[in-house]
Amino acid sequence: MGLMDGKSGLIFGVANDHSLAWHIADNLHREGAKLGFTHLPPPKMENRVRKLAEPIGAKCIVPCDVADEDSIAAAFHQARETMGPLDFFVHAIAFANRDALAEPFYKTSREDFLQAMHISAYSLVALCRIGLEHMREGASIVALTYFGSEKVIPGYNIMGVCKAALESSVRYLAAELGREKKIRVNAVSAGPVRTLSAMGVSGFSKMLDHYPEKAPLARNIEPDEVGKAGMYLLSDLSSGVTGEVHYVDAGYNIIGW
Ligand code: NAD
Repeated sequence: MGLMDGKSGLIFGVANDHSLAWHIADNLHREGAKLGFTHLPPPKMENRVRKLAEPIGAKCIVPCDVADEDSIAAAFHQARETMGPLDFFVHAIAFANRDALAEPFYKTSREDFLQAMHISAYSLVALCRIGLEHMREGASIVALTYFGSEKVIPGYNIMGVCKAALESSVRYLAAELGREKKIRVNAVSAGPVRTLSAMGVSGFSKMLDHYPEKAPLARNIEPDEVGKAGMYLLSDLSSGVTGEVHYVDAGYNIIGW
């Protein structure tokens, strides 16, 4: 018996096998979940996701650009058609203009600010709003965030502001969707992991060097640890947990010096 037997859901945010979304998907699959995946529309992205998702028996692999409402609606519709009402989804999506991340924060242009917020924070609200009718009562939603939402992390800049908005959105969504449909909404705050998006953060390697020096566990995290925590929050093991930001960061966030 797997923890996710009989459950099905949609994974937003797999780009390759380093993606945190992929590590969550892998754990969900091992526990018996039926999975659908989205990919950015270009065929190159579809091929990458297909190569990973087909061998684990993905039920649907659909294009989705979260900046486009019709694209979100079509992805949920197709997932529902193939898997029935969904028990969960994963939001593992972030984007900011690389140049904007490299500049001092006060130099962020209005355009770059809005684009980053749109794709990295508002998209969670859009997925909940459009996906709600396709979600089963008691479903669970997990988003990915980072500690740069709370404290200033050099180079994280606009993305820190986006993550603050994302975490606050998690609480408001949890309060409303819990009452409306018993849906839980939580976030995993992951320590630094080398992924495609992470490479866009200037000074990311310094973050990786810093964690083993400061974190209570004296190391960086393994991506599979994010996968296991995501699976926990999407499973019935966490049935009483909602609106939380759950740290998977080797304890880094508790240290004050
Ligand atoms: P990743 O590059 O593998 O994943 C980012 C995903 O966002 C990609 O799959 C990309 O296709 C998707 N995306 C970007 N713009 C999109 C759009 N308009 N529509 C749909 N999808 C879009 O990198 P990752 O590190 O696995 O990032 C996943 C999440 O984890 C992000 O929210 C990131 O901020 C968060 N996170 C990452 C780390 C880290 O160190 N890697 C730490 C904490 C939190």
